[in-house]
Amino acid sequence: MQDVRVLHDLSSVEKARLRQLATRFIHAKTFTGTHGFQITDEMIVIIAAQAALPILKLGLEYYSGWVEVIVYQSSFQVYHEETDPSGLISRESHTLSGESWLRGPVILSWEDVEQDLHQPFQGHNVVIHEFAHKLDMLNGRSNGMPPLHPRMEIKQWTNVLSAAFDVLQQQVAHHHQTRIDAYAATTPAEFFAVVSEYFFSAPGILEQYCPDVYQQLTYFFLQDPLLRKKRRQA
Ligand SMILES: [Zn+2]
Repeated sequence: MQDVRVLHDLSSVEKARLRQLATRFIHAKTFTGTHGFQITDEMIVIIAAQAALPILKLGLEYYSGWVEVIVYQSSFQVYHEETDPSGLISRESHTLSGESWLRGPVILSWEDVEQDLHQPFQGHNVVIHEFAHKLDMLNGRSNGMPPLHPRMEIKQWTNVLSAAFDVLQQQVAHHHQTRIDAYAATTPAEFFAVVSEYFFSAPGILEQYCPDVYQQLTYFFLQDPLLRKKRRQA
């Protein structure tokens, strides 16, 4: 677990809690390598430890309703069949580093998980991305809004996140350079997953460019990774 960069700033109390959560997560889920890929215990621990980070203060029940984690050796192809109004069926293929299904499995590419460990690109973490989708889908839809806590205001969440999403979409449309990965401009669900990656792996960037979004995420995750980083560096 010491190799996992995104966990470095946790206090010893938080690390103990994370270990406990990750262990319970490993018992509750199944981990399957696919297409002949042999998944090791070490890989399972690395995935579980990162998956436990977003739910550190929320609890394992936030990952209920599904059991399977499927791991590919590297990025994988998915095919979508689409029928246009004239009845023409086209088959589109995408290469993915991860995928999350509503009430279904989380799918990860080990090569991408590993890349986040050894060549951490600021703000990129495929495990946190896919598990953020799981939190988003807890209320039955993938719409960028996980079930908010009673004291949070839905209207405030929606206003803050949609305003930031709109700004990003405008920047992408005008070919401006974006400080947050432009992939976040795809849909509100991808926006939530991407800002969650930044929140945990590069909180300073998110706080600088989307301070209101950062604040809303502290209310939802019940964590403040930037404060944690500052405390550790103090
Ligand atoms: Zn996604």
